[in-house]
Amino acid sequence: CVFRRSPLGGVCVSPRATLSDQQYQQLALDTLEELDWCLDQLETIQTHRSVSEMASNKFKRMLNRELSHLSEMSRSGNQVSEYISSTFLDKQNEVEIPSPTLKDKPMSHISGVRKLSHSSSLSSTSMPRFGVNTDQEDELAKELEDLDKWSFNIFRVAEFSNNRPLSCIMYAIFQERELLKTFRIPVDTFVTYVMTLEDHYHGNVAYHNSLHAADVTQSTHVLLSTPALDAVFTDLEILAALFAAAIHDVDHPGVSNQFLINTNSELALMYNDESVLENHHLAVGFKLLHQENCDIFQNLTKRQRQSLRKLVIDMVLATDMSKHMTLLADLKTMVETKKVTSSGVLLLDHYTERIQVLRNMVHCADLSNPTKPLPLYRQWTERIMEEFFRQGDKERERGMEISAMCDKHTASVEKSQVGFIDYIVHPLWETWADLVHPDAQELLDTLEENREWYLNTMPQSPSPPPDRHLQHDRFQFEITLEDLEHNNHNHMHVRNICRLIFTTKSFHL
Ligand code: AMP
Ligand code: MG
Ligand code: ZN
Repeated sequence: CVFRRSPLGGVCVSPRATLSDQQYQQLALDTLEELDWCLDQLETIQTHRSVSEMASNKFKRMLNRELSHLSEMSRSGNQVSEYISSTFLDKQNEVEIPSPTLKDKPMSHISGVRKLSHSSSLSSTSMPRFGVNTDQEDELAKELEDLDKWSFNIFRVAEFSNNRPLSCIMYAIFQERELLKTFRIPVDTFVTYVMTLEDHYHGNVAYHNSLHAADVTQSTHVLLSTPALDAVFTDLEILAALFAAAIHDVDHPGVSNQFLINTNSELALMYNDESVLENHHLAVGFKLLHQENCDIFQNLTKRQRQSLRKLVIDMVLATDMSKHMTLLADLKTMVETKKVTSSGVLLLDHYTERIQVLRNMVHCADLSNPTKPLPLYRQWTERIMEEFFRQGDKERERGMEISAMCDKHTASVEKSQVGFIDYIVHPLWETWADLVHPDAQELLDTLEENREWYLNTMPQSPSPPPDRHLQHDRFQFEITLEDLEHNNHNHMHVRNICRLIFTTKSFHL
């Protein structure tokens, strides 16, 4: 640590003869203490913050510029551009909000939580092999052999588990990671909770149902095991990440935050239009722990429960897609300054760094469809488009403006996937791959191939010219040295701190 060594050199400037060894030592200690104080100050003013804000603003500007080109190209380009900017950019207060229709109803309860009992049917002695009742146990066992792989087929798990993919996957992952043992979670309580959780996903919602939750949980499980993160996270952090993934979309009604805001829904009212769904998923996920025999965290200490809750809230709120650019900017900044051990494992000493990686991990898992083998990816696309179209139908019925990509009569599915990959998924996964290099290379290759497939399947527009941005250029975000140098605000902080360090009394001996 250069900072700590150099001032001691400074101390030597004073004529040594005038100081006893003891005084000299004391002085050295005082100097170190002063420096520690200075470093603490540096940390508390969080000089990294302005860098991250700067990066995030820059990315938003770049993306906006690209999207406005795209929207000028063609009608479908305009639609893709609208979809991306309305979903992934944090636009403040652009919609006209109709006057709220207040209902005289106190909000003392969390809507959507239903009483369902799975307890009576379970006991630790009669537990099925995979936690779920099925007469296709062998087929299920075969699928679960791939539990640790990115190409894992969650659709088949759903088929062989009586449509209980989330319960089944949670059971398999928690068993494999020995989390039931580590956190002394009674197996019947665990299964009761995960089944209750699964029941609170809507089976009639095309995309945001328990299959998606199971997919994000299994993807998070794989990402947690990436070699570059070997032994980086504590058991509690792993527990929190898997729990966050499992609850991250619970009780999703199949419509977007903006739809809920525009229709004056109870939920939007409850959460004041801010990350409406994500707040709700968290409230339901935690509330369900209170149901009979559902408290899987009953044997955690108070402190463990508190930190787990903090971690989970952080991760689930970060799945609000309007925070995407900020998350990506922070991740890029982290990659720029990453430290690794000699064996290539990431060094994440501080809580803030570890939670930052975790929140990006769950976010990546949530945006991982296009990185999966094509037959899986295509099924996800069908599902999300069906959900979007149903929202579009609702908007049409109500005489509202139809949201981007939600109009079944005009949406261009293939083009939207290429745009989604180019502007959102690729920049994100490329950064993740930089962070965990070289672990994610295969996944990036699949992403490229899938992009090509959608590009080639795109119905050819009868009127050229083709969309330059969708066909040739790969859109990239970069932070340059110049950006950092232009960040005067940040420089000023650093200069002030340096001045502070060099004017402390220890340097004037
Ligand atoms: P979540 O709603 O929490 O699952 O966050 C994922 C969001 O990313 C979705 O709501 C979509 O807006 C977007 N998204 C994810 N996968 C796709 C996809 N295959 N095509 C288009 N948009 C997607
Ligand atoms: Mg969500
Ligand atoms: Zn999701």
